Amino acid sequence: MTADDANTYDVAAIRRDFPILSRQVNGRPLVYLDNGASAQKPQAVIDAVTRAYALEYANVHRGLHTLSGIATEKYEAVRGKIADFLGAGNENRIIMNSGTTEGINMVAYGWAAPRLRAGDEIILSVMEHHANIVPWHFLRERQGVVLKWVDVDARGELDPQRMLAAIGPKTRLIAVTHMSNVLGTVVDVKAICDGARARGVPVLIDGSQAAVHMPVDMRDIGCDFYAITGHKLYGPSGSGAIYVHEDRMAEMRPFMGGGDMIREVTQETVSYNDPPMKFEAGTPAIVQMIGLGAALDYLTGLGMARVAAHERGLRDYARDRLEGINWLNVQGRSPGKGAIFSLTMNGGAHPHDISTILDQKGVAVRAGHHCAQPLMRHLGVTATARASFGLYNTQEEVDRLVEALELCQELFG
Ligand code: PLP
Repeated sequence: MTADDANTYDVAAIRRDFPILSRQVNGRPLVYLDNGASAQKPQAVIDAVTRAYALEYANVHRGLHTLSGIATEKYEAVRGKIADFLGAGNENRIIMNSGTTEGINMVAYGWAAPRLRAGDEIILSVMEHHANIVPWHFLRERQGVVLKWVDVDARGELDPQRMLAAIGPKTRLIAVTHMSNVLGTVVDVKAICDGARARGVPVLIDGSQAAVHMPVDMRDIGCDFYAITGHKLYGPSGSGAIYVHEDRMAEMRPFMGGGDMIREVTQETVSYNDPPMKFEAGTPAIVQMIGLGAALDYLTGLGMARVAAHERGLRDYARDRLEGINWLNVQGRSPGKGAIFSLTMNGGAHPHDISTILDQKGVAVRAGHHCAQPLMRHLGVTATARASFGLYNTQEEVDRLVEALELCQELFG
């Protein structure tokens, strides 16, 4: 961020865009540090959703009446916004869906399942979210596909060369996160994609966390699949998308059948709509997607580079404060990580107790395994308390977090 950018990133004004941030929780001003699970919504998103239901609602695509035309236009405009946000180059590379879980399952069922045979391999990192593990376990259970795991190092970093070194003659896919939801580690996915492409191995990237915190560009990264989820991007739950490279799109089969994705259905046969519609069966989450469009407009208005710079400042401040506390373990120490801090206390409070006490102080964090049990095992813990920051958080909120943690230490230490 330049000095000019720093002056124009007015976090106080940004906070006023999010009505929930002015409420109190347990008698204290809310400090919302659970953005890794789901982010709060700006008024612009709330207004877009309200307007869509109040004035512009009808089912999309096939209607010839006015409201259906308006709803279709608003809904379809979001595809272009997602394509721009992801640097996809072409909106036909974007399949709209309910979020990352659906996106990855679509690839597992529609692309991988028909192509992979027993003994074929999928490479995963040990820090994947269950959404990028369980669909591949289905293929292991049902088709004998082999899952190959690549560890992270002591700082929680994933070496792209280790991932590429795991490629063998039977490797059919690499599935990897762009940013860990537990450690905040940012993975050099471009290096993985470059190396994998040279060996003819497609790469699926779980962009659920990364796309929220930094600019991402599909043409630069060069991946085959990139899944995002709307509710973490300050949009409604039930909205999301996956970018699919045109060559993979051509190879993929629809995994859900129904209305909207067909060209013609007879008693004997069926033909399909062109991609991406071919992969969008049934009535979509119309209003949620319109809300996601408003969220992407909001983010684009702020500028993702400026959001990233603001969050780097928060990360550095939080890192200095948290890593200086000798009774606290901060899991994941990659210098370039995002502003996500997974905490455990040496011989002190359990993460669930930490979360409960913090909540009494108005500080919302998440405790548990964060849908990353293989990573928990790798770290040798069963759970952590996770403080995950977003574009509206402040250094004062880091101080409130530390004060509340000190109270935990007094009570349990
Ligand atoms: N991948 C990562 C890294 C996540 O953090 C999450 C959500 O917590 C998901 C996937 C799943 O996203 P969703 O539940 O929105 O499908």
